[in-house]
Amino acid sequence: MSVTGAAIVAGVCGQPIRHSLSPVLHNAWIAALGLDAAYVPFAPAEAAFETFVLGLRGGAIRGLNVTIPFKEQALACADQISDLARLAGAANLLVFEADGTIRADNTDGPGLIEAIAVQAPGFDLGTAPAVILGAGGAARGAAAALALAGAPKVSIVNRTLSRAEAIAASIGGVVEAQPETELDGLLAKAGLVINATSLGLGGGAGPAARLELTPESAVVMDMVYKPLRTEFLRRAEAAGRRTVDGLEMLLRQAVPSFEAFFGVTPPASVDMRALALAQLGEAAK
Ligand code: NAP
Repeated sequence: MSVTGAAIVAGVCGQPIRHSLSPVLHNAWIAALGLDAAYVPFAPAEAAFETFVLGLRGGAIRGLNVTIPFKEQALACADQISDLARLAGAANLLVFEADGTIRADNTDGPGLIEAIAVQAPGFDLGTAPAVILGAGGAARGAAAALALAGAPKVSIVNRTLSRAEAIAASIGGVVEAQPETELDGLLAKAGLVINATSLGLGGGAGPAARLELTPESAVVMDMVYKPLRTEFLRRAEAAGRRTVDGLEMLLRQAVPSFEAFFGVTPPASVDMRALALAQLGEAAK
């Protein structure tokens, strides 16, 4: 990899950032393409995020991916906000234009849609009522992406109903909040079920949703990717449902970010899934 004085620099900003997969992926793509570029991690103190980002205005670097806990704050720093980032209430991509403008976008949503297209080919989002379990930032982003992608209905079910109601009120349209007591009925009509809670993270039990109630054609996705095959996905597979894992979403959100930073599509020659699995310490699927 060559990094000269003319190199394009981009990075990822989070706190902590040590375990981020993004530098490994982006730098593998940079190396495969032979670009004069670098992608580096930043971990500003939580209170210093805004000062850090505003200091980059005017092109000090080309852009930033933004991760926990800065995705909401990133929106507030931007001059131009995409429809999806606004609906999601969060940005994971900031681009610093040469004229000083900061542009905010959200590629988590396209990452989710693309992951479904890759792992459940032929699945039609436009005809499938979706059920999202959870009402944190991940659920809000998923609801916004599905609503913009044309889902006929997006029902958010969460332990704390008021959080689901807040998302439904903010996004509006096809997005609704439903109490947990309605879950069985929603599952019976669902085309897509997504775990957007943190249940199952680190290997514990996932949400107790009765996935066997879903139609046979339903697709089940877990946003949790550690472990890769969560208990939730294993139960879905045992019920004969197609599944989509959280790692695919994580990987797919990186593609439009790379394009925004470096102006080229990542090369297909890099097996990003194998790279990520090696980094995560999981056997290749
Ligand atoms: P968050 O804001 O902390 O939200 C956590 C959600 O989990 C809330 O809805 C919470 O319910 C629910 N929850 C937690 N413990 C629960 C329990 N014991 N019983 C029932 N519900 C429980 O987290 P987030 O940022 O939205 O992230 C959620 C998950 O998605 C995380 O595992 C994260 O790693 C993953 N994620 C993956 C990707 C990807 O690219 N694959 C991207 C983003 C996030 P309450 O509201 O009732 O507390």
